[in-house]
Amino acid sequence: MPATRASTRDPGAPAAAEAATEATAEAAGRPRPVWEGGFEALLRQDPELAGILAGEARRQADGLQLSAAENFTSPAVLAALGSPLANKYAEGYPGARHHGGCELVDLAERIAVDRAKALFGAEHANVQPHSGSSAVLAAYAALLCPGDTVLAMALPQGGHLTHGSPANFSGRWFDFVGYGVRRDTGLIDYDQVRALARAHRPKAVVCGSVSYPRHPDYAAFRDIADEVGAYLVADAAHPIGLIAGGAAPSPVPYADVVCATTHKVLRGPRGGLLLCRAGLASRIDRAVFPFTQGGGQMHTVAAKAVAFGEAAGPAFTAYAHQVVANARTLAAALAAEGLTVTTGGTDTHMMTVDVSGLVLDALTARGRLAACGVVLDTCGLPHGAAPGLRLGAAAVTTQGMREPEMARIAVLMGAALRGEGPGGAGAGETRGTRGTRAAVAELVAAFPPYPPYPDHI
Ligand SMILES: *Cc1c(COP(=O)(O)O)cnc(C)c1O
Repeated sequence: MPATRASTRDPGAPAAAEAATEATAEAAGRPRPVWEGGFEALLRQDPELAGILAGEARRQADGLQLSAAENFTSPAVLAALGSPLANKYAEGYPGARHHGGCELVDLAERIAVDRAKALFGAEHANVQPHSGSSAVLAAYAALLCPGDTVLAMALPQGGHLTHGSPANFSGRWFDFVGYGVRRDTGLIDYDQVRALARAHRPKAVVCGSVSYPRHPDYAAFRDIADEVGAYLVADAAHPIGLIAGGAAPSPVPYADVVCATTHKVLRGPRGGLLLCRAGLASRIDRAVFPFTQGGGQMHTVAAKAVAFGEAAGPAFTAYAHQVVANARTLAAALAAEGLTVTTGGTDTHMMTVDVSGLVLDALTARGRLAACGVVLDTCGLPHGAAPGLRLGAAAVTTQGMREPEMARIAVLMGAALRGEGPGGAGAGETRGTRGTRAAVAELVAAFPPYPPYPDHI
């Protein structure tokens, strides 16, 4: 039962732990919780949808999942997500709700908040944002007024949609100025950040990116923000899981507000997280509810608590370090296959690569890889370069793969991209696709992310 494990892992809230254990014991006294066996119920009632869910689980297991933004949550996280907490309305915060019957979800949210604070050494945490973008929206709402100037990484250089895209609320409601990376090194140009901050006097400086494979220099960003009297917002959506595991530096001591997702390297449910100093706590809370959201999604909040509990353990620390070791090995091995790795490698879980050295465009490259069962994303590359590929090692590391498998993945990717695998190809496929696809299937079959689904589904 996830709640039992959750409560025993929470040294900071003994009263909450006791009450949750009582609730669990009560539930355990019943023959079987109503939501256990939920998948079988879905299968009986709606085989069409059940088939889609099972098919998606099989797709995830049968391919090499190299998307830098994805991971495999634990069965405990999935259990919280599929629980009757999904039924509960709980507008407001623990102890101050607009709905009745919130006693138990209050406990779940308090545990999530306490665990997030302990995990990241933060003075305050808000676990209600529905997504990473909702967390960024709330951070801006807490600190800025429409029309304010914000300095963030330019989108073509690696900024997120919420960092000023004209198609997003951020670009519509704020005046964004974009900094970038140096042409020679691919690293953030801190001289440019400082010069732009002096010239534009932004109200907030944002650091964080969707594709930057190195650690931001949070102290340098803090210094620049201080010089012009700006807030520092760290959008750590990607590295927050590495930060939790001690495998990346933390922005928490430097940033006024840290925005994050819980579903990338952190391996929790899809959702957002905000961390901040105590002095900003009530502004941040009010910016989430009631300013930008209604009721929290309590099943997701509970699943976040489970994920924070997992991330606090030594197994997750080992995991986070292995993710970085795997990503470094993969980056070096891809370079040996003739791909150009941006910044020459990675310090994180992710890397971006230029495939033009193989005389391929990114979409064709992604398609050839997909035909062989290798799933990853295309991404923009800085300074007007043709788009490239972005990939990460978080999911395959969860599956238990290590350095030898990373080397093998790079060889298989090289073969897929060059059309060199053994065994021919189906109609419309590149030469060698069949052989590489079989080799990929053999590799992933040795590392199932979950217990296999029965064949009849
Ligand atoms: C993923 C990401 C987000 C947004 O997360 P969603 O949950 O997709 O809304 C925000 N900022 C950065 C830097 C990200 O990488």
